[in-house]
Amino acid sequence: MITGGDRRAALYPVGLPLLDRRVVVVGGGQFAHRRVVGLLESRARVTVVSPELTPALEALAAAGAVTWARRRYEAGDLDGAWYAVAATDDPAVNSAVAEEAEGGRVFCVRLEDPAASNACIPAARRQDGLVAGPHGVGVAEGAAPAVAGRRAGQVILVGGGPGDPGLITVRGHQAVTQADVVVADHLAPRSLLASLASEVEVIDASKLPRGRAMAQDQINALLVERALAGLRVVRLKGGDPFVFGRGMEEVEACVAAGVPVEVVPGVTSAVSVPALAGIPVTHRGLTHEFIVVSGHVPPGHPDSLVDWAAIGRLRGTVVVLMGVETAAAIAGALIAHGRASGTPVAVVADGSTSSQRVIRTTLAGLPAAMAAEEIRPPAVWVIGDVVRLATRPDSHVEAVFRGDRPN
Ligand code: SAH
Repeated sequence: MITGGDRRAALYPVGLPLLDRRVVVVGGGQFAHRRVVGLLESRARVTVVSPELTPALEALAAAGAVTWARRRYEAGDLDGAWYAVAATDDPAVNSAVAEEAEGGRVFCVRLEDPAASNACIPAARRQDGLVAGPHGVGVAEGAAPAVAGRRAGQVILVGGGPGDPGLITVRGHQAVTQADVVVADHLAPRSLLASLASEVEVIDASKLPRGRAMAQDQINALLVERALAGLRVVRLKGGDPFVFGRGMEEVEACVAAGVPVEVVPGVTSAVSVPALAGIPVTHRGLTHEFIVVSGHVPPGHPDSLVDWAAIGRLRGTVVVLMGVETAAAIAGALIAHGRASGTPVAVVADGSTSSQRVIRTTLAGLPAAMAAEEIRPPAVWVIGDVVRLATRPDSHVEAVFRGDRPN
């Protein structure tokens, strides 16, 4: 019998090429999510076994990125797997998974008790060179709590860009790598979370379209509470925090609670997602304006704050966010208010990710094209003559995303 101590002493570090290999993750909580994100980065074929999933995992299952076995673990679940993760909150289940793995010669990590399984994940190191390995957290006396040897608690609101981890700012990336707690949205660059040190707390604040939502005041309270406990809290958002990102609500909550807050702007999807499809939002001699509109409520809706008649009269570029379900109503309103029905339109879904898709149509053809292509959020659509400039959108995407890119 090998004891945990013996096993650690004999640890042999190795990298697993998991491309297209079956990996089974048992559990559907935050820990499972962290591991699934890393496994997807390695392009493993991931099956998650759990009766319930976090909203972010549920989104991955809905998108087909992982296979979801919606039930409790059963013996035999690891059949055909090359690697397994035991990440339930029930030690007995994790034990059973670890045992099956050992019997079937599948390497398996067990998150709550790394020594009680036949594999473990080497401790991650912070990338900034300031902190290596686990660090102690202490709260000092007095009004301004502080983490021992580090700065007092604070919140840093970071715009993560459109999803590709290469499109976060240098300051934003630095803040993420130095965080004690990361509170992330589902559109934030997921792969950044996979590389965090294991002691970093990652909280999923996904606000999925039509899915479960963590109420905004709950998020605000969480940020404030962790910061007041002396922790460095990063609120990681997709795009820019202040572009339809509720960033200012979080700033206000921090200010009201006396918590220092820093804002790190991000690369907004409104400009970058069209750009990644080869479409400039402005072009000399063609367009002297662009406007970014939220399509989350349709024209005529009592909550709408948009003057669609004025936008219909514009000749420049119109970029619509959160407008997948309202596309038909918005296109109809713009045509009714004067925009030519033949104006070129491009829809870019999953911008900057490996599943990025671009469709080209016209304002009149938009609803049918979106339905035919089964476009789902997140997608940005762009109306205007600038769309014509993207003569080879697909080849552009090839060049940028399928070429020799680092990682
Ligand atoms: N603060 C974000 C926008 C939040 S609203 C930003 O500045 O980008 C969410 C909407 O942004 C989505 O419904 C979609 O319209 C758009 N979006 C965000 N990321 C996207 C991406 N990678 N591809 C396409 N659209 C995206």
